[in-house]
Amino acid sequence: MIEHRICLSRVVNPRSVAVIGASDDVGKFGGRVIHYLIKHGYPGRLLPINPNRATIRGLPAYPGIGTVPEPVDVAILAVPVAHLLRQVEDCAAAGVGACIIITGKLADAGAEGAALQDRVLEVARAAGMRLVGPNCLGIFNMTDAAMLSSSLVLEAERVKPGGIGMVSQSGALMGTLVSVGLHHGAGFSRCISVGNQADLELCDFLDFLIDDPATRVIALYIEGLKDPARFAPLLRRARAAGKPVLCVKAGRSAAGAQAARSHTASLAGSFAAFEAVCREAGAVLCDDPAVMVQAADALDRLPRLPRAGMGLAVIASSGGSTVTTADMLPAHGLRLGEMAEATRAELRRWMPESHVHLPLDTGSFDDGTSEDGLSACMRSFMADPDIGAVVVPMTTQPAMAARAALFPELCRQGGRPVLFVMTAAEVGDAARQALRAADFPFLDRVADSLAVLRALEAESAGRDRAALPPPERPPGAGPAPALPGGALTEAEAKSLAAAYGVPVTRGVLAQDADAAVAAAEAIGFPVVLKGVSRAVVHKSDLGLVKLNLADAAAVRAAFAALPDIPLDGVLVQEMARGEAELILGARHEPGFGPLVLVGTGGVLVEVLRDVQVAPAPLRPADAEAMLRRLALWPVLAGVRGRPALDVAAAVDALVRLSWIAADLGPRLVEMDLNPILLRAVGGGAVAVDARATIHGDDA
Ligand code: ADP
Ligand code: MG
Repeated sequence: MIEHRICLSRVVNPRSVAVIGASDDVGKFGGRVIHYLIKHGYPGRLLPINPNRATIRGLPAYPGIGTVPEPVDVAILAVPVAHLLRQVEDCAAAGVGACIIITGKLADAGAEGAALQDRVLEVARAAGMRLVGPNCLGIFNMTDAAMLSSSLVLEAERVKPGGIGMVSQSGALMGTLVSVGLHHGAGFSRCISVGNQADLELCDFLDFLIDDPATRVIALYIEGLKDPARFAPLLRRARAAGKPVLCVKAGRSAAGAQAARSHTASLAGSFAAFEAVCREAGAVLCDDPAVMVQAADALDRLPRLPRAGMGLAVIASSGGSTVTTADMLPAHGLRLGEMAEATRAELRRWMPESHVHLPLDTGSFDDGTSEDGLSACMRSFMADPDIGAVVVPMTTQPAMAARAALFPELCRQGGRPVLFVMTAAEVGDAARQALRAADFPFLDRVADSLAVLRALEAESAGRDRAALPPPERPPGAGPAPALPGGALTEAEAKSLAAAYGVPVTRGVLAQDADAAVAAAEAIGFPVVLKGVSRAVVHKSDLGLVKLNLADAAAVRAAFAALPDIPLDGVLVQEMARGEAELILGARHEPGFGPLVLVGTGGVLVEVLRDVQVAPAPLRPADAEAMLRRLALWPVLAGVRGRPALDVAAAVDALVRLSWIAADLGPRLVEMDLNPILLRAVGGGAVAVDARATIHGDDA
């Protein structure tokens, strides 16, 4: 165990800061660092280090860190990379608590830089000195006015303290996000750029923010986790502390690019695993970093959604903006609320019956522009059991600023989020200013407001999940039979599935045509023949699957027509029927644990990519929620005269497979049941194909 000189809260809120390479010239890194510290009112001891100056910014300068006559909590280093090691050694020798290393070109710039970074880390570790970075932009601590950074966002007149805590692997992106937040009037607690994470890493600061009283919401920009196994437990701890966590994870498009032996491995890559773990632990994954910050702001400054799955009210004085906003809802997975009778009755007091519908256009009715009418409508929305939030897409109109200023109070009284969108450009600035003055969030684009609402929806779904009991093992699920390591045959993989109660086709392995005919007669016609070999991944690609063989002659003909490749045997199988084909899969993601997948199955799975992934084991409700998120769901539910399918059977099979994944853990490389045929309600499901790769028992 390393004995650290300083705890994280002192790194973030140092009593004294030494700026190595301090300068009067704000064109230099060290000049900007000291300038921003002074400009934003750093209240602690400021210690410029520069061998060539007696004073900097009117403060006494020291020639080296070793000559500073008082304890230094944090040293900020924005020095040329060639000088870095010596400077860090000096800091270690001088008893500095932590170094924030802005200097780049370390592990971010190839092997030589990485070796230097390792040296720097060794020096720090040996001394118990902490490191932030290298290659970071430092820390903005708005709560304590400690801006330990050279980021240009600190040119802003004022950085507003508030409840958003942020950790970012990109310093430039963090600066940009703070500037986006400030434009919208958001306030921040601490923003930490972790850079190359040589020592302190994203999870350390996530852990810190969870306990930080100034932080109410946490936003993360993640490129790669140093230790993925720490992440999910921290997310659960944040949820228990009532602090929503939002994240953007870079590298989505690269995920799943690697060639894989199973469909599950190619479809449930590490990004899908990350997404699944976030959903399970109640964190909100966003695509767009700017949306993440605005959603964090909404969670910080607006009431939370009462629960997931409620509808929205859209209200404004422009028919055009209300209707186009409503049109965009389905694409964001959102819907208009169904107004209760009490809400309708209230609305009728202010407008003709013909206007009493959502979205609500207040422009065309007599008294619609009166403040009383607007307030009454808003209040009735917020008392409606099916309206979780209100979207107000304001267009140009007289007295915009005064009208906008009504909403903060209405939102506060109503206790539900109001997403105010100032859709106009410069002419809307007075309204924006009024909202900033009232400390109320606003958005500039309707699409952003809907993306934010989707994030709020995910946050509230995550909160609801926290109350669920742990998954329970269904009767007859396991234990696993003894199996060889490596790639299993279809028959072996099916025996594993069957041991957990997943229904599989009956089948017999035959070595010649006579045996195949005898097996077919025992199973009952029609049958399927499959040439099987451990070496073959996709049987039908090679013409090895012969379906729907009605009699002995057809079996003989199919046997003779099998391609001439080395086979372990020919599997004779009952011919199963179903209305839809699903893929069920399982794998183990290092750091994240066992996962299951369900999707539209058959030979086109990789083309359709209609899949959902979740951590194993599952509750039946989790399995059903995954099915509902599939594009295939309307087919399962029954469309256009087609019967509703046996969703309960699919849920049961998925839950059972999830226990295989949970029990085998890291032994399970991957497993596919593709397809499982699903019949109409009451007809059940059956896996007609299975494959798996596992590490042997002793692995
Ligand atoms: P592979 O995936 O290795 O190409 P499968 O065993 O999945 O081979 O067979 C290919 C397709 O044939 C399946 O997607 C399914 O549509 C159909 N099929 C396979 N076995 C059966 C069976 N026993 N009953 C009905 N259809 C089957
Ligand atoms: Mg298959």
